[in-house]
Amino acid sequence: MKKITVIPGDGIGPEVVDSALKVVEASGADIDYEFVYAGQAIMAEGGNPLPDSVIEAVKRNKTALKGPITTPVGSGFRSVNVALRKKLGLYANLRPARSFRGVPSRYEDIDLVMVRENLEGLYIGKERYLNEEHTKAEAIRLITREGSERIFRFAFEYARKENRKKVTAVHKANILKYTDGIFLDTGREIAKEYSDIGFEDRIVDNMCMQLVKKPELYDVLVATNLFGDIVSDLCAGLVGGLGVAPGANIGAEYAVFEPVHGSAPKYAGMDKVNPTATILSGVLMLKHLGMENEADAITSAVKKALEEGKKLTYDLGGSSKTSEYTEYVISKIR
Ligand code: NAD
Repeated sequence: MKKITVIPGDGIGPEVVDSALKVVEASGADIDYEFVYAGQAIMAEGGNPLPDSVIEAVKRNKTALKGPITTPVGSGFRSVNVALRKKLGLYANLRPARSFRGVPSRYEDIDLVMVRENLEGLYIGKERYLNEEHTKAEAIRLITREGSERIFRFAFEYARKENRKKVTAVHKANILKYTDGIFLDTGREIAKEYSDIGFEDRIVDNMCMQLVKKPELYDVLVATNLFGDIVSDLCAGLVGGLGVAPGANIGAEYAVFEPVHGSAPKYAGMDKVNPTATILSGVLMLKHLGMENEADAITSAVKKALEEGKKLTYDLGGSSKTSEYTEYVISKIR
């Protein structure tokens, strides 16, 4: 039996994680759980939104399923999500965007994967005010050769393993000549080691336009932290929204699986939101744990449930509750 750490998160986190765990259990996956808590409520209790015990629990079990955690905007504590990725060395953020029949969207047959660098770029938290009036501030964007090498290698290895044809580097090296210069040059170098996979690059603004106009031309995308965050939400929009977009944060030793979406606080506790993104994050987790059969069983149950469309949540045009949709997916596994 494998043991994983579960971080339910806050807002809608606990509901979508509960749903995903029920589905994982129904798949027959032999997994035991250790629950730990982080976020605003934990900060109120002990003064730290990300206690060391949470990090230790992920390190102990090596794999975690996580719900979203709210980050105060503007002031307040810095993102627990970013800190967790940093402390665990989770350098690759994998965000697949795949069309499902039955999910309303403007496109069909989208199958894109964003590989986002997760530890560098503008997310390193180095910001400061430049005057006493706080009318001027700067943020540092860190890009290293080592970090770029690691993420491109991850993307090419992923492409090879998943039989994908092409890797596209997303950048702004025309303006950010040093930082994205390093990123792009490194990509070109690493690409030479993977002659079986195509390689090209796109400037990020053009990339957004291309993805909206001709998404079928793209396959695996690799980007620095902020561009990857933005473009992956765009990709989620191409396949019907955040409710169906899963994610994985992967490092050399540990992996944390979580949906792309945030904690949507206005829907918290309403049994209303779509748990598919977290269920599919559970699928990525099962694959990571080598439980391919259980992962496939869940994927096909989700496909059937969405295609039949009898129990959809509000974001997909239905009126079913999170719990009703979850039960319906489980019935499709059985
Ligand atoms: P959000 O993803 O929480 O919500 C944006 C909108 O998307 C919601 O209003 C809702 O309409 C929709 N949505 C999101 N998830 C959905 C679901 N499962 N089913 C149906 N609809 C869904 O983004 P936000 O409002 O920008 O952020 C809210 C909080 O979440 C912020 O504090 C932010 O920092 C945090 N956040 C956390 C993570 C994380 O934990 N990894 C990621 C992103 C945002």
